[in-house]
Amino acid sequence: MTRFVYDFVEGHKDLKDLLGGKGANLAEMTRMGLPVPPGFTVTTDACREYLHTGSAPAGMLAEVEHHLRMMQNQIGKTFGDSDDPLLLSVRSGAKFSMPGMMETILDIGLNDTTVAGLARRTSDERFAWDSYRRLIQMFGRTVFDVPADEFETELAHARHAAGAGTDSQLTAGQLQDLVHSYKKVFHAHTGRDFPQSVHEQLFLAIVAVFRSWNAERARVYRRKERIPQELGTAVNVMAMVFGNRGQNSGTGVAFTRDPATGRRGAYGDYLRNAQGEDVVAGIRNTVGLAELATIDPPSYRQLLSIMQRLEQRYRDLCDIEFTIENGKLWMLQTRVGKRTPAAAFVIAAQLVDEGTITLDEALQRVSGEQLAQLMFPSFDEAAAHEPLTTGVPASPGASVGAIVFDSAQAVVATGPVILVRRETNPDDLPGMIAAQGILTSRGGKTSHAAVVARGMGKTCVCGADELRIGDGEVTVNGHTLHAGDIISIDGTNGRVYAGAVPVRPSKVVRYFEGEVTAHGDPLLAAVERLMIHADHVATLDVHANADTAADAARARRFGAGGVGLCRTEHMFLGDRRVLVERLILAEDDDGRDQALAALLPLQRADFEQLFAAMDGLPVTVRLIDPPLHEFLPPLEELTARVARAEALGEDPGHDGALLTAVRRMHEANPMLGLRGVRLGLVIPGLFAMQVRAIAEAAAARAAAGGDPQPEIMVPLVGAVQELETVRAEAEGVLASVPGAPPIRIGTMIEVPRAALIAGQIAGAAEFFSFGTNDLTQMTWGFSRDDVEGAFFGRYLDLGIFGVSPFETIDAEGVGELVRIAVTRGRAARPDLTIGVCGEHGGDPASVRFFHDAGLDYVSCSPFRVPIARLEAGRAPVTASSSDSR
Ligand code: PEP
Ligand code: MG
Repeated sequence: MTRFVYDFVEGHKDLKDLLGGKGANLAEMTRMGLPVPPGFTVTTDACREYLHTGSAPAGMLAEVEHHLRMMQNQIGKTFGDSDDPLLLSVRSGAKFSMPGMMETILDIGLNDTTVAGLARRTSDERFAWDSYRRLIQMFGRTVFDVPADEFETELAHARHAAGAGTDSQLTAGQLQDLVHSYKKVFHAHTGRDFPQSVHEQLFLAIVAVFRSWNAERARVYRRKERIPQELGTAVNVMAMVFGNRGQNSGTGVAFTRDPATGRRGAYGDYLRNAQGEDVVAGIRNTVGLAELATIDPPSYRQLLSIMQRLEQRYRDLCDIEFTIENGKLWMLQTRVGKRTPAAAFVIAAQLVDEGTITLDEALQRVSGEQLAQLMFPSFDEAAAHEPLTTGVPASPGASVGAIVFDSAQAVVATGPVILVRRETNPDDLPGMIAAQGILTSRGGKTSHAAVVARGMGKTCVCGADELRIGDGEVTVNGHTLHAGDIISIDGTNGRVYAGAVPVRPSKVVRYFEGEVTAHGDPLLAAVERLMIHADHVATLDVHANADTAADAARARRFGAGGVGLCRTEHMFLGDRRVLVERLILAEDDDGRDQALAALLPLQRADFEQLFAAMDGLPVTVRLIDPPLHEFLPPLEELTARVARAEALGEDPGHDGALLTAVRRMHEANPMLGLRGVRLGLVIPGLFAMQVRAIAEAAAARAAAGGDPQPEIMVPLVGAVQELETVRAEAEGVLASVPGAPPIRIGTMIEVPRAALIAGQIAGAAEFFSFGTNDLTQMTWGFSRDDVEGAFFGRYLDLGIFGVSPFETIDAEGVGELVRIAVTRGRAARPDLTIGVCGEHGGDPASVRFFHDAGLDYVSCSPFRVPIARLEAGRAPVTASSSDSR
């Protein structure tokens, strides 16, 4: 027969599924012989049955009564006894800690009769009535949803009538009156009297915890955190101990190490003569834990020794809640404690040094997200004021600068600037390089601004759609800012502030850059040690998305094993744009050949530098991908220029020809139009010129004694015939360049069809690289430039997904295409190399997915290389079922 109630002496810490986190840990402490008040846990099984059937399981109540009797025997007090009543606390406790659920009801067991018994026994009438009014308040609020402020209003009245400054100045008589008013509030809202049966109180409280599992805010929280909705919560019933029994009593929270820095030594807060909720509510000032050594030396010593034992048992930092009642210490809760990212690294390394955990385990105690946090400069939160607005946090960091509205201004600016645009395009690149940060009112995490900014490690907030960007000014929520005004943008949370918020630089980045050593710094030493181990155990390589030699050099310093994606389109910008225009406007083969011939040496020089920066390591160069009209002026601008010229009776000249070309090339859906391999097949000589530039650059590097290892990657392939055609042409070109090393030819997999026919495609490809930006866009039918700013906020609120599929790979949908392509590709060509170069390559959860999917490498922006390295190391030592929530 299923049991629904377990005494604390029966459980242990590994029973979280059944007893919830809190219950399992209370049981563990009880087993360890620590001073835990007696109690029992009603299981998650009982909760699930209640949620399923709408009533508590048969037999549950009898089990509760049975365990209650055992408690009574142990303690020597009886629940509901009019002379010496046992009082209980009821606390929810799911497997994963879940704000948004009912938490705690204290003092269950008080009624009009037992309150007098408690007063007599404790010789403290004030304490008894104060406990009773707290019960009605908490019970009313959490079991019957009586609005909290109704009680607060009565309390304020009572204080006012008594001329009392604080609650603690209310006398027993005044608290007794307050109980009377609280009961009226209770009746007015529930239509019934506050239950005088203590057993009914207990039953209603347990069932209310069950019900709170399905409260709307709890459901939304779980959807977001991907916590299964069917888990249910356990309920912990425990004998009350009182921290508010005088100066000899108190309550506190403590950590076995400093959760902010990881430093060894107990940290915490203590509040004399108080209950737990007083500490949380911050009603009175707490003192540091160390002061307990003077207030109550024996309890302090006992607490320290318990904390040491808990650390040994959990092999990790623990946090605890405790109460001292008349000089007797009680443990009310423990769990593996939350900590800052810096503390996570420091503590993991300390525990290895102390011989408590292995290096493999240490890797499980930190995460790529935490390392990412450590790599961004950050705002001093304490000094920040109200944000003006919040956009999509697209590229983390904290930047301050003067507003500029166009790239040219950014380039000529003398001080730090923030480039503020509706959106950016390849033309803005020089301005983006010059700016400290980028703020846009449109576009999401894979918009041009976001991708480029992340690549450069530059702060970016995009899709801040409350911004109204006008001519030389931007208005937002009633404020108007002009060019030159200072703003601060936080790419970690999307906040935008007026004025300068103080910034702190990241020492971890300085360490990766080689500007400082780890010596003597506990955090850097911990990072270094864990990175070395991650590289040692990783089976997934990490490459970088880098388009320039400078990016490639940084990626190398950050530990990249090659360039996984060089986007060649930036090589068509700036001064070279005129050559692209000539290419597009060419009326015959000659004109086109001349334009291509002019581009060739420029491309060759770019590649030479890139191969030099990555000497000895693979560099995957992707042939041009975006539609060519992206390199021409916008249609609106040209139309206006031509119309103006015509109105003035002037010849629009070159603009007229450009306008004709732009109109001819206009596409309703350019993302699904003439781009990638399609472009290479339609514009004769374009891909061939790029292939020649790659081969000649490699030959030149080899002749100079270098070790260039280029690869050629064809974008947007959907049919093997496309790839075969490009391949045939490329092989012809490669064969014609003397001195070039062998150059592999492969393809991106970014069109769903390519994933499905990966077996065929592998016949013409030596490697695959998943372009998961496009693959996500095309699998979901989400325009990557629009949806995140437009409606993803709503989708996230609704819990339709917990995280944008452009950020973390959608393992079920897009991920299935990845798995299919890996299987079919390798079946056709067992030595196929497979990587990924979409934004997901630098996302921790996605890196673990790609490890599990059997990829050879991930490629990500240089700044994310350390994060991907860490995650690549964590993947093999972290069981995929393990859960760090
Ligand atoms: C991709 O689609 O994932 C990719 C890497 O290519 P791009 O972002 O340049 O389209
Ligand atoms: Mg793509």
